[in-house]
Amino acid sequence: MTKLAERVRTLPPYLFAELDRKKEIVMKRGVDVIDLGVGDPDLPTPSFIVSAMAKEIKKAENHRYPSYTGTLAFRTAVAEWYKKRFRVSLKPQTEVIALIGSKEGIAHFPLAFIDPGDVALVPDPAYPVYEIGTKFAGGKVHRMPLLEKNGFLPDLSKIPERVRKKAKVMFLNYPNNPTSAVATKKFFRDVVDFARAYDIIVVHDAAYTEIYYEGPPPPSFLQVPGAKKVGIEFHSLSKTYNMTGWRIGFACGNADLVGGLGKIKTNVDSGAFTAIQNASIVALKKGDGSVEKLREIYRKRRDIMVKSLQEAGFSPFLPTASFYVWMPVPEGMTSSEFAGAVLEKAGVVCTPGVGFGQSGEGYVRFSLTVPEKRLREAARRMRELKV
Ligand SMILES: *Cc1c(COP(=O)(O)O)cnc(C)c1O
Repeated sequence: MTKLAERVRTLPPYLFAELDRKKEIVMKRGVDVIDLGVGDPDLPTPSFIVSAMAKEIKKAENHRYPSYTGTLAFRTAVAEWYKKRFRVSLKPQTEVIALIGSKEGIAHFPLAFIDPGDVALVPDPAYPVYEIGTKFAGGKVHRMPLLEKNGFLPDLSKIPERVRKKAKVMFLNYPNNPTSAVATKKFFRDVVDFARAYDIIVVHDAAYTEIYYEGPPPPSFLQVPGAKKVGIEFHSLSKTYNMTGWRIGFACGNADLVGGLGKIKTNVDSGAFTAIQNASIVALKKGDGSVEKLREIYRKRRDIMVKSLQEAGFSPFLPTASFYVWMPVPEGMTSSEFAGAVLEKAGVVCTPGVGFGQSGEGYVRFSLTVPEKRLREAARRMRELKV
């Protein structure tokens, strides 16, 4: 009776279990552990958004079941934001859908488009939801290694012909978690050509487009000609406005893809809380100043951490976007061994790259989501680290 379903029994092992256990032991010893493992912003949601929410939550009309696809006002605000930020036109009625966080939408999307045995092309290393969502739908995963020599972009020419023919969906994520790589429009153009040639749906996870430091702001996949014929883009207010706990995001792009996801959602959830959608409209319309301040804070943290790691003799990549620092581990160590040693000797938690996929082996990820004072302390300990 209590036997778990096959799809749960075959879930990949939780790769951070060993590190979590070590963290417990080190903390019990009384070490002041600094956790740079999780990618959850430490800063509060900007107060103008919280104030908007305080007003909205008092309105009785917001207490009823929300609209399945999101209110037209929310979807219109998303379309206006896309126009302003990316110069991409979207029809709010058919090309935008509200989500209960983008993770929800990404996890449900394969149920609408992947049949048992269909193949999804999934980057490696990656956010685990692409693979899990595919498998929950009965699909098979073909991994696309993200290698340093290719700027952590997948090499499309390496995907075998038979896999291309069977592939139904390709997942991408730029600015990238965990590598912090940014995609060029040229790469996105190549992806559109590839997708049209092999009739593949492109799912682009764009959670970090607003967290950038240098160069032109990261592009939207939908900015490339023809992208809306093949693709859907997932976005989130979580990282841009420090709203991870609110659970609000959206997907936009091809109307059939947005509509298909909507069909699944109509049958499994009942939409995002209307009060949150209304507060999010305020965030999208008036949030530019707060995001600019947020970028300045992360930029300072990034500079502190990268400089210290360099002084300690490491060679981290300088992220131009996202709030992660991706770093090769010293020769002769696995990413888990290095993360274990950093925890043991410096009391700092970082994430072993292998936890994001086999091609993440040889790297670790530091998250910049702790206050500057803590980050300076972590940086000081890293400078003194001998592994
Ligand atoms: C944080 C994150 C998300 C956003 O998730 P939400 O469900 O919107 O909070 C999506 N994709 C990646 C790669 C992330 O790191």
